[in-house]
Amino acid sequence: MPVMGRKTIDDVSLSGKRVLCRVDFNVPIKNGQITDDTRIRAVLPTIERLNDTVLVLCSHLGRPKGKPNPEESLRPVAKRLEELLGKQVTFVEDCVGEKVASAVAQMKPGDVALLENTRFYPGEESKNAEENRAFAQQLADPFEAYVNDAFGAAHRKHASSYTVAQFLSPAVAGLLMGTEIGALSKLLEQPREGFVAIIGGAKVEDKIGVIRSLLVRAETVLVGGAMAWAFLKARHYEIGCSLCTPASLQAAVDFYADAEIDRSGLVLPTDCHMLEARGAGKARKIVPVTMIRPGWNALDIGPVTIKRYTTVIRAARTVFWNGPMGYFEKPPFNEGTFAVAQAVADCQGYTVIGGGDSVAAVEQAGVADKIDHISTGGGASLEFVEFGSLPGIEALDPA
Ligand code: ADP
Ligand code: MG
Repeated sequence: MPVMGRKTIDDVSLSGKRVLCRVDFNVPIKNGQITDDTRIRAVLPTIERLNDTVLVLCSHLGRPKGKPNPEESLRPVAKRLEELLGKQVTFVEDCVGEKVASAVAQMKPGDVALLENTRFYPGEESKNAEENRAFAQQLADPFEAYVNDAFGAAHRKHASSYTVAQFLSPAVAGLLMGTEIGALSKLLEQPREGFVAIIGGAKVEDKIGVIRSLLVRAETVLVGGAMAWAFLKARHYEIGCSLCTPASLQAAVDFYADAEIDRSGLVLPTDCHMLEARGAGKARKIVPVTMIRPGWNALDIGPVTIKRYTTVIRAARTVFWNGPMGYFEKPPFNEGTFAVAQAVADCQGYTVIGGGDSVAAVEQAGVADKIDHISTGGGASLEFVEFGSLPGIEALDPA
């Protein structure tokens, strides 16, 4: 079945071919140990389906900014993948050039290899079209086909996730791409009535586009996290020393200045849980948002807001959640985020969660299996909800 009018691995025969498969193995690694392998597990069906091809996987990891950094090597991922697949995975210490060519030449159908981090080269993320194309061409060189299963990178016009599709044919979507797009498309087909979106996190400037789009699509948009304080500050509330960057504030000010936007569905917190910024025994306090004073840092939504938000969420027909409600890494400021996680789990409607922090919260709360769809891509799921499409998919062969 095609995905957004593009071919998938089900629509072409790749048997015996040398396949370059872009995956999203951008996993958290601490002291050489992978702390969450969800993204690796998510592409196992595609890897298994391609078991009669010469399969070479590539991915980015972290932000090495165009030069090699041993701490951002994909080597530990190759090892984990080997354990999950129960077969050998060759790790290639480069992603283009001689090492890749000779590794591929030695492979036979059924073999799997993983290339080194594509972001070790500046061409991967380069906005210079020539540089980006040249690197994509080098990536494509040893291969006969391209499969994109990197949903989490599909919103980026990077060489390995977008441009390379021009140099390989067929260029098709993998199975994870189909699952993700299927679940998010279903979300966008839901009626406005009973559609509740929850948007949190810190950066208004990153999420204002999706908030605008959700105000049209959803009946209610519940706002939490540090971005709520930026919205309040834009309306001249005192927010003390709560997190609010100039860029976030500017985005919030512009949002209120735009007469085109119907903001009637937007809901902001009415109380907060805050911490005194200075002093020995740093006091904590729960107050209405009208009572935040200089020297206080609002780090979570308060109990009145929690009650209001979770009541709306539990009764919803459709829920989309991205971004934590507060500084959830530091208890007790995780209460808002955990209460929202529990409410989304309790909701009988269609529920979708995207974004690393919100996904981590439902996992820590032990309710991940009660969510209809947990996306492997935060930025990509937001962009799909905003635009209804993604560049990495548009670059593939039309069905
Ligand atoms: P996401 O990763 O979900 O896209 P962001 O990256 O924008 O969201 O923001 C998440 C980060 O913001 C988390 O590390 C969280 O602790 C932090 N955060 C959220 N609310 C607050 C707050 N009120 N004060 C300080 N940090 C906050
Ligand atoms: Mg984040």
